[in-house]
Amino acid sequence: MKLIVLGGGIVGVTTAWCLAKDGHEVVVVERHKAAASETSFANAGLVAPGHALTWASPRAPKILLKSLFQDGQALRLKFSTDPRMWIWCLKFLRNCTQERAVVNTVRKLKLCVYAQQALRGVVAETGIAYDGIRKGLLYVYRDEASLERGIANMKILRDHGQRMDIVDADAIGGIEPALQASRDKIAGGLYCPDDESGDAHTFTLALAERCRAEHGVEFRFDTTITGFEASSDRVDRVITDRGTIAADAFVLALGSYSPILARKLGLSIPVYPVKGYSATLPIDGRNGAPDVGGVDENNLVAWCRMGDRLRLTATAEFSGFDTSHSPGDFDTMLNAARDLFPQGANYDKPSYWACLRPMTPEGTPIFGRGRHRNFWINTGHGHMGWTMACGAARIATDLIAGRKPEIDTAGMIYGMPKH
Ligand SMILES: Cc1cc2nc3c(=O)[nH]c(=O)nc-3n(C[C@H](O)[C@H](O)[C@H](O)COP(=O)(O)OP(=O)(O)OC[C@H]3O[C@@H](n4cnc5c(N)ncnc54)[C@H](O)[C@@H]3O)c2cc1C
Repeated sequence: MKLIVLGGGIVGVTTAWCLAKDGHEVVVVERHKAAASETSFANAGLVAPGHALTWASPRAPKILLKSLFQDGQALRLKFSTDPRMWIWCLKFLRNCTQERAVVNTVRKLKLCVYAQQALRGVVAETGIAYDGIRKGLLYVYRDEASLERGIANMKILRDHGQRMDIVDADAIGGIEPALQASRDKIAGGLYCPDDESGDAHTFTLALAERCRAEHGVEFRFDTTITGFEASSDRVDRVITDRGTIAADAFVLALGSYSPILARKLGLSIPVYPVKGYSATLPIDGRNGAPDVGGVDENNLVAWCRMGDRLRLTATAEFSGFDTSHSPGDFDTMLNAARDLFPQGANYDKPSYWACLRPMTPEGTPIFGRGRHRNFWINTGHGHMGWTMACGAARIATDLIAGRKPEIDTAGMIYGMPKH
């Protein structure tokens, strides 16, 4: 069967890989000159089932409300006239009960664990080098009260089998020697020995090349999708700025832009862009760079070593499709990183980036199809698309083949009840 994957981010490329291995002829259509040029370009790099907590929690409404009136928050909701944002927010708020937070978190965790194994499978099979580090991840808290809260919040992950050790500042310094010097700034944390890290951008580029070289996947770069030619229950062609392309089936993997194109087929995809910022610093021979990635939970700043670079990311901002940034947007993350890792990188040479997490209200992605029987969905991986991609690609491929996915997809199938 000939399949067109719409979008060449990590989700599109991993999907193309799985489909090609399943024996399909695959074309990937991407508007940029290369794969992974948008959200998959400079994310935090954490492969983190240990951070699978859903954002929609009983505490979230208060945090969102506060962000409307106070600057400098890690979560920023800006007043907007975009009705789609408010509809998304209403759906998000409906997921903020304890009961739904538990259901959504457990689903996310199961998908993340499955996907991490799938990622390891792809790495073992291809030997792709992507600055991967398998030394676990650390989630650190600056004070006792937030540590207690963090332990309570993470309990659900531990209860569902995720290995997470509660560690004091001394133990943290033992796990990551780069944190020895800042022990007095940390109350304690959680260490997840099974979590890992790596550069999603490097991985995606290398996998795209394997797709092309080993499985004949065709990449149509510099090609913007503008619409579809469809009948009542089938899509025949995708319309692009370089002409139309026919296929037997299609997979929607356009990240935050998925709802815009899907609307043309009458699909209502509940994905909204949530902007994040990232700074990449050269380590330049500094001797205090961490190997073990993690999150400074009080500042919601993630750090991750990628070879001779240190990646920092922070902030969840609702500001539509705007990806602009200015140096001031990075102050919090740079200050937090300097505080924890004074010798961690050359802080005078940051490269800045901002991009959009394709978030669903539940935090779980969307699979399946709508009225058009040959138009499949694999989108909405939110803040965990690097972690989820290889597993999500397998699920999408299984569904297209008519096979039962290897994990339960309840709540993740388009048009089916969420709860
Ligand atoms: C700051 C930040 C930190 C993050 N950290 C982590 C992390 O530590 N761990 C983790 O697991 N996840 C993380 N994520 C999330 C992860 O990066 C995303 O979930 C993932 O990259 C989404 O991949 P995608 O392929 O769906 O989207 P994208 O990478 O955005 O790919 C979609 C592609 O579709 C293309 N496209 C869109 N419209 C069109 C069109 N009309 N025609 C042609 N092409 C089009 C785009 O150019 C793009 O290349 C982070 C995200 C952010 C923003």
